[in-house]
Amino acid sequence: PVVTRFAPSPTGFLHIGGARTALFNWLFARHHGGKALLRIEDTDKKRSTQEAIDAIIDGLDWLGLDWDDETVFQSQRAKRHAEVAQQLLDSGNAYKCFATPEELEQMREEQRAAKKPMRYDGRWRDRDPSEAPAGAPYVVRLKTPQSGKLEIEDAVQGIVSWQASELDDYVLLRSDGTPTYMLSVVVDDHDMGVTHLIRGDDHLNNAFRQLALIRAMGWPEPVYAHIPLIHGNDGAKLSKRHGALGVDAYRDEMGILPEALFNYLLRLGWGYGDTEKISREEAIKLFSLDNVGKSPSRFDPKKLANLNGIYIREADDARLVEIATPMIANADPELLLQAMPVLKERARSLHELADGAGFLFAQRPLAPDEKAQKALDAAAEGIIGKIHEKLASTGDWTLENLEIIVKQLADDEGLGLGKVAQPMRAALTGQSNSPGIFDVLVLLGRDESLARIADQM
Ligand code: GLU
Repeated sequence: PVVTRFAPSPTGFLHIGGARTALFNWLFARHHGGKALLRIEDTDKKRSTQEAIDAIIDGLDWLGLDWDDETVFQSQRAKRHAEVAQQLLDSGNAYKCFATPEELEQMREEQRAAKKPMRYDGRWRDRDPSEAPAGAPYVVRLKTPQSGKLEIEDAVQGIVSWQASELDDYVLLRSDGTPTYMLSVVVDDHDMGVTHLIRGDDHLNNAFRQLALIRAMGWPEPVYAHIPLIHGNDGAKLSKRHGALGVDAYRDEMGILPEALFNYLLRLGWGYGDTEKISREEAIKLFSLDNVGKSPSRFDPKKLANLNGIYIREADDARLVEIATPMIANADPELLLQAMPVLKERARSLHELADGAGFLFAQRPLAPDEKAQKALDAAAEGIIGKIHEKLASTGDWTLENLEIIVKQLADDEGLGLGKVAQPMRAALTGQSNSPGIFDVLVLLGRDESLARIADQM
């Protein structure tokens, strides 16, 4: 059975790259009917915070990514990690290194001077520990293979290889007995039964080092899938400037629906022909590592906004009302619900949706914005008064009838419909943009519409 894991370090928010890694792990497990596990890699006590843990869990939750079994906290497993280091010592696959910090610093300096790669030279690999002064501090290092080629058949990158001689005997246990990150990851992945490791390709080098440890323990090797990082639209590695924000910012500041971000993240690095819109169910059905691209994908905020618009139009009106109501001053949920079908046609973000609804609840007299004021100033002499008169004369306040009346008026005045509709819109909404003018009249109702027009006479 397939077991995947998402293993974030809680040193910051859940950024867009992490969210995509989480999504791919989740989809792969769900596609295969396996397990998706969550492990919080909180071993860096100085940089890990509860706030970050909460933000990560909250972000995953919002995206609808649920995890099987209990969440594993890496810091709570230090004893088990040390136990494995001891096993490696016992089996001769690891050794105690008594080199002092000064000694190591000198070694590095010599390597730097000789322009050689800086790595531990294995000076205690074959030495007898009894040569060390009694009670001297030591670290435990892995005995990595010295020669030959290490190969990984990566499910995304294809076959990648490394010369074993490039591996150094890295530290498993520090001198205070605490495990290193490299040891913890391998032990946890093994103990959690992880079969597929899907993660950013910045971890590809680690894979070779981790593989040496897995082999030393004689454990089953997982399938690796290192996915290319996300780049900005300009091709540079994604940074804050490109919108490398926390998932919460997409929700709160950019007004993105979770299903839109889900879909967008999926398409970021995974493709199914040209299809842009893929539902959650389809994604589970279709997802495979074969369709993960080898080159970095580019983050395109416009595409995200377009998808978001599509999902807003599909979203249930009552749900949108619930989200938008707190974003609008004086909002009346009932009227908002009534207006939602026409409002959501236009919005590409929830903020646009809320902004577009604002006119419904604005207090009279409206303060027209600059463009609306221009439309009012440019209106034909007396036209606002005539509109008011015409509309006031009818009791049939329906879309159909209002349309007939206003068109008739435009005809009678020898004006294009726009010349009537623009100042009308400005008077009714205080804006130059709004849903269709007849929809606006119906939503505002007779009294409010007439009063707003009268305000501009
Ligand atoms: N905790 C690591 C990170 O946040 C991930 C480690 C892994 O996936 O192996 O980058």
